[in-house]
Amino acid sequence: MSHVFPRVLTRTLPTVVSAEGAWVTDADGKRYLDGAGGAIVVNVGHGDRDCIEADTSQLGKAQYVRGTAFTTEAVESYAEAVAPPLPMDAPRIYPVSGGSEAVETAIKMARAYHLARDEPSRGTVIARRLSYHGNTLGALDASGKEPLRKPYTPWLGRFLHAPPAYEYRCENPTHPQDCGRWHAAELERMIEQTGPRAVAAFVAEPVVGATLGAAVPCQDYWSRILEVCRRHGVLVIADEVMTGFGRTGRWFGGDHWNVRPDILVAGKGSTSGYVPFGFAAASGDVFDAISSSGFVHGFTWSHNALGAAVGLAVLSRLRDGLVDRSGLLGRRIHGELVGGLGSIEIVGDVRGLGLMIGIELVRARESKEPFSRSEQITERIVAAALEDGLLLYSSTGHADGVNGDLVMLGPPFCLTDDEASTLVERTVAAVRSVV
Ligand code: PMP
Repeated sequence: MSHVFPRVLTRTLPTVVSAEGAWVTDADGKRYLDGAGGAIVVNVGHGDRDCIEADTSQLGKAQYVRGTAFTTEAVESYAEAVAPPLPMDAPRIYPVSGGSEAVETAIKMARAYHLARDEPSRGTVIARRLSYHGNTLGALDASGKEPLRKPYTPWLGRFLHAPPAYEYRCENPTHPQDCGRWHAAELERMIEQTGPRAVAAFVAEPVVGATLGAAVPCQDYWSRILEVCRRHGVLVIADEVMTGFGRTGRWFGGDHWNVRPDILVAGKGSTSGYVPFGFAAASGDVFDAISSSGFVHGFTWSHNALGAAVGLAVLSRLRDGLVDRSGLLGRRIHGELVGGLGSIEIVGDVRGLGLMIGIELVRARESKEPFSRSEQITERIVAAALEDGLLLYSSTGHADGVNGDLVMLGPPFCLTDDEASTLVERTVAAVRSVV
């Protein structure tokens, strides 16, 4: 009997023994093409010598010191190296252990900023429906995915949710006309209804990942949202946990629309999965305000040197051309998927940016009617892919809170051209297998 409380309770998981490049091998010798980079985490690829070397070399120097007692060369060097690509002025990073912690940290930073500026009434956070920002209670309250929130309803409900930027099922009555303007008006209405100087921050992913399968907003979404937030003194928190570090073909997802947030949240790709890591970055202005009055926060594992050392190696691998590769390969794979899936009636939409690509499955293309959840379309596609040696990322429930089927691709950027062809072939075959 195992003494592990596993992530999955409905089936026994295979044991992984090794991973290299875009491939993972289990104890039976079966090889899987990692079409999802784990959970859209492994940006540079498995078994990268530079990342492993950075990790072991830092381990050989110093392992743990308390963040309130010392800084380290690793954390200082990482902060210096990551500052230029961050879309912010004079950023200051607060390293943590992952995305949820980074979101909690960002939300508290926003609150600390308003307290420091003598606006204690600003406490409300506005996120969006059909979003995911983490599973700790603050991050879960920001998250707008009902099935994840439901068991914990008694502990949630402080945050508000604006409409999602979900072009395929856009709620704007005049879609596709004036969507950016409509979203901005909806947000402004919520801010005004909440009360004068009551909203602290707006938090959103530049491109929605886990819950909406690489949903790209309309072109003027971000410029109009930013304008409303600025006018109302609401801080903008960009959750770049999934979109950051080259995933969308740019350094950060918001770079596609010149989004310069007040606070940016990173995780996943920051260390490509080699070490649990992430950070909340405050702009210079936010940091200056907070530093005048203090920040009541902290974790035992924050400001961790191992994560920073590996993060530095990841930055240099990305600078070697991997960010551009994500953009280039993403366009190719997207085009081939559109071609290969086009004749399959249940494929409603193929979308995304760079190597963040989503496929939405529907019962009827014309009406966009979702399958009933009982048909387990997503699960069957993922299982068929797994059988064929392909790992996919998936999500359900987005169409109406219960129904809705999505699979997502997010392979490592080191994927070769031949592996990209295999990825497309196996994905098309898995989708076709459920028709
Ligand atoms: N924000 C986003 C956008 C995410 O995709 C995730 C993880 N899927 C998180 C936050 C939470 O990160 P973690 O699982 O590392 O806590």
